[in-house]
Amino acid sequence: MDKKELMAKLKEINDILEDVFGIPERSQDEEPLGTLIHTILSQNTNDTNSERAFNNLIEKYPTWEDVLSADVKELAETIRIGGLAGQKSVRIKQVLKWLKDNYGKLNLDFICDMDTTDAIQLLTSLKGIGLKTANVLLCFACGKETFPVDTHILRISKRLALVPEKASSEMAHEIMGQIYPKGKAYSLHVNMINFGRTICHARKPKCRECPLINYCIAWQEFMQ
Ligand code: SF4
Repeated sequence: MDKKELMAKLKEINDILEDVFGIPERSQDEEPLGTLIHTILSQNTNDTNSERAFNNLIEKYPTWEDVLSADVKELAETIRIGGLAGQKSVRIKQVLKWLKDNYGKLNLDFICDMDTTDAIQLLTSLKGIGLKTANVLLCFACGKETFPVDTHILRISKRLALVPEKASSEMAHEIMGQIYPKGKAYSLHVNMINFGRTICHARKPKCRECPLINYCIAWQEFMQ
């Protein structure tokens, strides 16, 4: 399929997902630094545990200054429920230190005023911040039209032949970023994740009740 055909296909997929899951509303209270820390905590874990880790963090350390000056082992203990706590605590402190050293304050609001490409470049230059995290931050906290590809979306995009079967996360970001329907980045992202959580599971997808089966190249694998 060429790009035009992929765009048309993804538009149809988005319409079906919006029929099934609705049009998600954007949260008004996301702030960039909190979203970034939250996204770091969500790496390699599920939503419940990353939510708990984030809540533990803000309960124990009411301000980002408190997190920056926290003992790294104590910080790791606080966010332990989210997994990879040692690594994540170091990353969080590195981000806060970078902000303090370079901008003099623990506030990332300026990222929303930057050009999207420059913002992604700046964020991904930080250790442990990948394309997904940078795109989530810009999409959720800044309301930008960026399309983050998480593990659900990568899996589903392959099954729906939107990206090649062997596409890396980087390649999927590149392709999906060019073909999503204009103005629908947030809706499509949220709905594809809902679809992945409820129907198109990694191991046992519910193909018999799938509203996207006509677009799928993988269903035969699962319907024995
Ligand atoms: S048919 Fe099955 S594998 Fe294909 S998209 Fe639907 S749930 Fe996923």
